[in-house]
Amino acid sequence: MLKTYSLKHDKGEDIKDLIIAYNEILNSMLEDIWDSIKWKKTQIEGKKQFRILPNYRKDNLFKKELRDKYLKDWKYASHWVDSALKTAFSIMDSWKKNYVKGNRKMKCPKAKRLFIRVKQTLCKLEGDRLRVTISPGKFIYFDLSKRYFKLPKNISSSGIGEPIITLDKLYLPIHEPNKNNVKYLAEKVAWDLNMFSIDGYSPEAGWIKIDTKPLATVHISSFEKRRSIQKKASKSKKAKGVSRKYSKRERNRARKHQVEIARVINSVARNNGFEDLRKENMYRSSRLWNRQISRTDWKNIKNRVNNCIELPPEYTSKKCSRCGCINKDLNGSKVFRCKNCGLTIDRQLNASINLYLSMEGVPHQISWWDSNILPTLVGGYFLTGVEQKTPDELARELYEVVKPKLYFGYDRYSDSYLSMPI
Ligand SMILES: [Zn+2]
Repeated sequence: MLKTYSLKHDKGEDIKDLIIAYNEILNSMLEDIWDSIKWKKTQIEGKKQFRILPNYRKDNLFKKELRDKYLKDWKYASHWVDSALKTAFSIMDSWKKNYVKGNRKMKCPKAKRLFIRVKQTLCKLEGDRLRVTISPGKFIYFDLSKRYFKLPKNISSSGIGEPIITLDKLYLPIHEPNKNNVKYLAEKVAWDLNMFSIDGYSPEAGWIKIDTKPLATVHISSFEKRRSIQKKASKSKKAKGVSRKYSKRERNRARKHQVEIARVINSVARNNGFEDLRKENMYRSSRLWNRQISRTDWKNIKNRVNNCIELPPEYTSKKCSRCGCINKDLNGSKVFRCKNCGLTIDRQLNASINLYLSMEGVPHQISWWDSNILPTLVGGYFLTGVEQKTPDELARELYEVVKPKLYFGYDRYSDSYLSMPI
């Protein structure tokens, strides 16, 4: 698996000329490739309409012509021309793909960002530094000692992908060894999805909480920005454009969180139970706007989770997981209190236990709960120091002694969700 890390660097001045020269030949190559396009009238699959689609030259002769053209008067290592050529074709390929989908205009793409892609032949890992060849015999060294990530043991230059360097940042892709024998924490976990957290439970795994507030914040702040634009100029075209830009940015940022959250879920359990969102409205009144956006997040997270099992959402959060009684007046309380059996438990934990019971097909039964669920909640790691006065109290004041066994939160520096102390 290739994972990319970014690092700040202070070699901007040393590398600036090369980056600018690289950008110039890259854009010029894009124009050359663009000029080779032959537009071909093509029938759209399954439809009567025709579209004209682009075909540009990709043959080796053409590539060699371009290479020779740009090597003339090139004062840096020739591998940089090869790198620019490769990058130019990959930009064109991605433009074409998007053009066919209808997401790009019939216009030659341009590399606006200043960067260089470093071919493997141009760089070498030397302990804590990366050596980059500028021209034969001339090197720039990038310090990696202040990195926040680990380099795999005995990593050689072949253990890294092609780094990208901008004026102030270095993006380093690292091959991380594939774990063939993935060990899951648990075979099964049932997950309850909420606006600010995702709570998982199974007797094997215990209670697992993933803090999803940063994902909610992405939507909330974008919503506020768009609203303030709309207030200022409700009908202007420009406002619509800006608003659309924010929506797009919101989607991209949300996607990053969704991918990471799904990764955490996949690392915890082999089989994952979720409420069937399609049926959810039958039991829960969909009330707020935030419910709607959460649903989009949940769907996108679920789509990325392995071995997903759909569970009926019947009264998931309103039912007592111990005796099965329904408590209709929760009033947004964080604690679930059962009037029938006296269970007092974190509301989200109660919901995920309900989902787990449904995943296993076990009916609600006090004796079963007390012998199978209770020991997993108060056995060892769950105790937080609250003293138990009578044996009966366990079931009543459970919420005070029970804390998630594992807590995952968002770490800004590595841009990922990590297991953290509560
Ligand atoms: Zn109960």
